[in-house]
Amino acid sequence: SATISLYSLLLLLSHSFPSMSQANCLADQVNFVVGSHVWVEDPELAWIDGEIQESNKDEVTILFESDTRVLRKSANMYPKDPEFPLAGVEDMTRLAYLHEPGLLQNLQIRYSINEIYTYTGSILIAVNPFQKLPHLTGTSTMEKYKCAAFGEQSPHPFAIASSAYRKMINEKRNQSILVSGESGAGKTESTKMLMQYLAFIGGRAETEGRSVEQQVLESNPVLEAFGNAKTVRNNNSSRFGKFVEIQFDQKGRISGAAIRTYLLERSRVCQVSDPERNYHCFYMLCAAPKEESGKYKLGDPRKFHYLNQSNSIELDGLDDSKEYFATKRAMEIVGISSEEQDAIFRVVAAILHLGNIDFVKGVEEVFDSCQPKDEKSYFHLKTAAELLMCDEKSLEESFCKSIIMTRGDTITKSLDPNSAALRRDSLAKIIYSRLFDWIMCKINDTIGQDPKSNSLIGVLDIYGFESFKTNSFEQFCINLANEKLQQHFNQHIFKMEQEEYKREEIDWSYIEFVDNQDVIDLIEKKPVGIISLLDEACMFPRSTHETFAEKLYQTFKGNKRFNKPKFSRTDFTIKHYAGDVTYQTNLFLDKNKDYAIPEHADILKASKCSFVSGLFPPLPEDATKSKKFSSVATQFKLQLQSLLETLNATEPHYIRCVKPNHLLKPGIFGNKIVLQQLRCGGVMEAIRISCAGYPTRKKFDEFVQRFSILEPEVMKECPNRKTACKRILDRVNLKDYQIGKTKVFLRASQIAELDACRAEV
Ligand code: ATP
Ligand code: MG
Repeated sequence: SATISLYSLLLLLSHSFPSMSQANCLADQVNFVVGSHVWVEDPELAWIDGEIQESNKDEVTILFESDTRVLRKSANMYPKDPEFPLAGVEDMTRLAYLHEPGLLQNLQIRYSINEIYTYTGSILIAVNPFQKLPHLTGTSTMEKYKCAAFGEQSPHPFAIASSAYRKMINEKRNQSILVSGESGAGKTESTKMLMQYLAFIGGRAETEGRSVEQQVLESNPVLEAFGNAKTVRNNNSSRFGKFVEIQFDQKGRISGAAIRTYLLERSRVCQVSDPERNYHCFYMLCAAPKEESGKYKLGDPRKFHYLNQSNSIELDGLDDSKEYFATKRAMEIVGISSEEQDAIFRVVAAILHLGNIDFVKGVEEVFDSCQPKDEKSYFHLKTAAELLMCDEKSLEESFCKSIIMTRGDTITKSLDPNSAALRRDSLAKIIYSRLFDWIMCKINDTIGQDPKSNSLIGVLDIYGFESFKTNSFEQFCINLANEKLQQHFNQHIFKMEQEEYKREEIDWSYIEFVDNQDVIDLIEKKPVGIISLLDEACMFPRSTHETFAEKLYQTFKGNKRFNKPKFSRTDFTIKHYAGDVTYQTNLFLDKNKDYAIPEHADILKASKCSFVSGLFPPLPEDATKSKKFSSVATQFKLQLQSLLETLNATEPHYIRCVKPNHLLKPGIFGNKIVLQQLRCGGVMEAIRISCAGYPTRKKFDEFVQRFSILEPEVMKECPNRKTACKRILDRVNLKDYQIGKTKVFLRASQIAELDACRAEV
């Protein structure tokens, strides 16, 4: 029957908050036995352990390593496992106590011995080592996983890939592997390992030249050259999301692939803040041999405005000139011909030259006119036009003048220097984003899809939840993606839990959990979600971010997931599953508009270079105004919808990457940083869902071994382990546990009760 326990109800209430301490404390009552060890919440270290020295009615005295404290019993505390394994455990669900401090202790112990991978059930947690760990990479490691069943070898991305592959073959079901985590956590590195492994087991034994699997692997450096950049969080940060679908033939060999990319960060092309960098390709091309870079009139990157806004030009451990050749080689493998490479580099160089065109007030006697500043600006204008093979004069006019179409008439309006610079930047951004899309499409064309394939493994490498001091449109979109993936994750984990109960044939109740559908609705519901209102604002010429924000306040007044911050007139706050995020609306309208100014599109369409004109295909004749306006947010929303449809038709596997410190250095494990990520990545959520049922599962053997001391004769009298378990449990008068086919299932507080009994024996 469908009953909901009191505990699940509490859980429902506490669901939307990231801290699980509240929920678990209610269940995991500490037995305040003198001499036992407890975890106590600490503002700096998250959790510290101590030994109970004295226990009174309401208070306990606890001895810590550095001091002794008297604490109220109602403080946040958990029992500490007296038998915590010295080297930790490979699967967290095997911990006797499944709580935050226990998870942290386990991850930390393992990290200190370079065991960076740990399971939580079937989820792989990967803590970034920030150093090469040869014992975890290479062909010999892949060999080990090839023949092993899941769980036989230590936790590893190879094990996840191997399990996905085997399931695909045996169960004929499509699989997906979702890799998530914050910037710098190691998503892309893990993704590459997954692809490497799949190429290893799904590749042909003897291949020469350009095999499909090789092309799949070489797509990585190409996309990284154009879509990755150094940021404060990661020296090689992917500024786009990526879903790679690898197709297999009947024999389980890779036969095709499709890559989808999401939401490339465009603003970076024109705007870089110290100590970050622009996209790698710009520096590579500047560092190319003289005869190459000379062709594009490039040289010292410090001379280009789009690059020299930041002092960070060279990167430790990265040789841009070597990268140039490596990228060209990879481009060749994925089928980009040398003519195409030349065209790509011409476009990249043209963007740098565009950035160097400055504008000053014009000499004409018109109000607000402008023109290129000086000889230098004219030189860069000319060079950009040459590289793009388009008309120089028209290009200049497209920056300095705006053409306004009225009914049957066109009016030319002069622009001020500031507006001209904005138009220049918008051209640079649109060209770059079209170039990136072209590269992705080209790779897809070369690798090709296998129309006969009916099995595939998808690998998703997508930005994690973001919450910064200032959050703009990008964070808004990224966090929408995370809400949707979180929902997918919750549903899956929930289902898995139920399946485990079924498998063990135990009596289980339907535990419900609060879904985050309400946040998703707030953002994308039609016709009154934030995105719809944003699109509306973008189409209405007189809208500003102030009117947009005002509209949001009116529409979502009283919405549980929406808030207007007290001291702001244009910000709004969304209560996300991972916490509150306040967004600044100032650039929302601008960033949502994905269209080339008609003058720009016309000039580039008329380029003598077919590559350049091909980046700007003509719009269909009948495109009305609303169709011409293309919204970045709506496109992204549709892309996400299709991604989720694909994922829903697969069996998912999860890798949660964790960044152990913000210094990007090996050997440093920051408790609080890690904890925050486990919460945002849904690891705590998964555990919370399992805590709602029977979080502690012990195989009969293990259980008897640990607790036979409570019933010393049990082994002699009960040859059957299952009955032995039951005898022990009855002996201590435990209620509400369950005995499955192979395991004992205990409620959240029960293992602590048993341990307390054991301590008293
Ligand atoms: P972003 O969201 O910014 O793209 P990310 O999660 O993709 O971040 P990665 O680029 O994969 O992060 O990793 C960041 C850096 O951490 C790598 O450049 C590498 O130096 C190091 N790193 C990550 N994973 C590993 C690993 N398994 N072994 C060694 N070093 C690693
Ligand atoms: Mg990445």
